[in-house]
Amino acid sequence: MDIAALNSFTADIWRDEITPALVDYIRIPAKSPHFDPDWAANGHIDAAVEHMVGWARGKVAELPGATLEVVRLEGRTPVIFIESPGEPSSEIGADTVLLYGHLDKQPEMTGWSQGLGPWEPVIRSDRLYGRGGADDGYAIYASLTALVALQRQGVKRARCVVLIEACEESGSFDLPFYVEHLKDRIGAPSLVICLDSGCGNYDQLWLTTSLRGMTGGRLTVEVLTEGVHSGDASGVVPDSFRIARALLSRVEDAATGEVLPKVCTVEIPADRVRQAKVAAQALGEEAWRKFPFAGDTHPPTGEIAELVLNRTWRPQLTVIGADGLPKPSDAGNVLRPSTTLALSLRLPPTADAHAAEKAFEQAFTADPPQGAKVTYQSAGAATGWNAPPLAPWLEAAVQKASKATFGRDAALMGEGGSIPFIGMLGETFPDAQFVITGVLGPHSNAHGPNEFIDLPTGQKVTAAAAIILADHAERPR
Ligand SMILES: [Zn+2]
Repeated sequence: MDIAALNSFTADIWRDEITPALVDYIRIPAKSPHFDPDWAANGHIDAAVEHMVGWARGKVAELPGATLEVVRLEGRTPVIFIESPGEPSSEIGADTVLLYGHLDKQPEMTGWSQGLGPWEPVIRSDRLYGRGGADDGYAIYASLTALVALQRQGVKRARCVVLIEACEESGSFDLPFYVEHLKDRIGAPSLVICLDSGCGNYDQLWLTTSLRGMTGGRLTVEVLTEGVHSGDASGVVPDSFRIARALLSRVEDAATGEVLPKVCTVEIPADRVRQAKVAAQALGEEAWRKFPFAGDTHPPTGEIAELVLNRTWRPQLTVIGADGLPKPSDAGNVLRPSTTLALSLRLPPTADAHAAEKAFEQAFTADPPQGAKVTYQSAGAATGWNAPPLAPWLEAAVQKASKATFGRDAALMGEGGSIPFIGMLGETFPDAQFVITGVLGPHSNAHGPNEFIDLPTGQKVTAAAAIILADHAERPR
């Protein structure tokens, strides 16, 4: 393959087609069904599908025999499904690569800087700001551009299937139905390329070696049927916030953040500990400096490899929302009837998320303090994923791709987030190899305010995917 031609082709497409397409896509508030239960009536998800398909059809037309279909199962978010035959009449052509991405978005979130906003695309020094560009709107554009780049150069590759779902940010609850529905057309991929993950910096290709699992839910403590004068009631009626705090202490050490139920912790594999040390060297202090700490806030330790392991292989609890509490300016001296806390628990890649879900429910609801009415409504559970050992051909291909596009070696690291589909695929196709990578690097802030996609990184990841697809076809078997 002509690497220089590949790099310049992908750079042209990113500049002339993908960037303008992402600008328009950012304007579409295609929130995931969890955040827009009326998504079907509101039509934003369909608008995003239409927008992407409008571009994708042109690219599919350049790939001989390729087809594109928007698949819709009754009452479920749609998927975009593209099939592109591989090198004909050969072992390569019988093989399948699955390329995955999603088009649904996280909600707005507050805290966007002046001049920026979730549905307001803004380009500042090679970075395109706005919701969903990096997570994960670019995936379909990058995937198809990689295929067309190979086509232009006449480079052989396996049959490719591109699957873009619209339910990822809600835990992909619709996806298993599509995987079942499309199972004959998906086939048995020997390689999965997922462009929905993170990168430790924008200087090299980062391969995600593991993803955390997750569970969570709503913990509600009710103590009264209506609020009463706190001067009258305190000392007789318990404060629901105190009870909630006591319940949280059953699952988390408030001093250290350690998550207590045994099922939430695993022994970290030795190779992952080793890789964390190498990643820590590549990351340096940026591993923690990338977060916008307020005041003197700092990480629990200065040891970067430990921070890498904390965010990839250790369980961590976050309170992500609350109800039953008025704003401070509206707060009278009232003993409130109830407190609700929305909890998010990240789990080690190999921990059983359903066991963790159960452990949390039991810890919260057993023997409630002062007989308070405690309910825990789980938001579901998804077990994480630990990559199978990297095949030698893929290890070489990833290094080659990183050097050819970024000019530096690739790096390997677990990610702290979750992609439920990957866990699902890992179980269904235990022999598949995985390239999980992405553009969610320092400050890119997917899910938070000021999300951006680093455009040069998007282009390089696209070219890297093309190189890996070519080497996959040439691998020894
Ligand atoms: Zn995503």
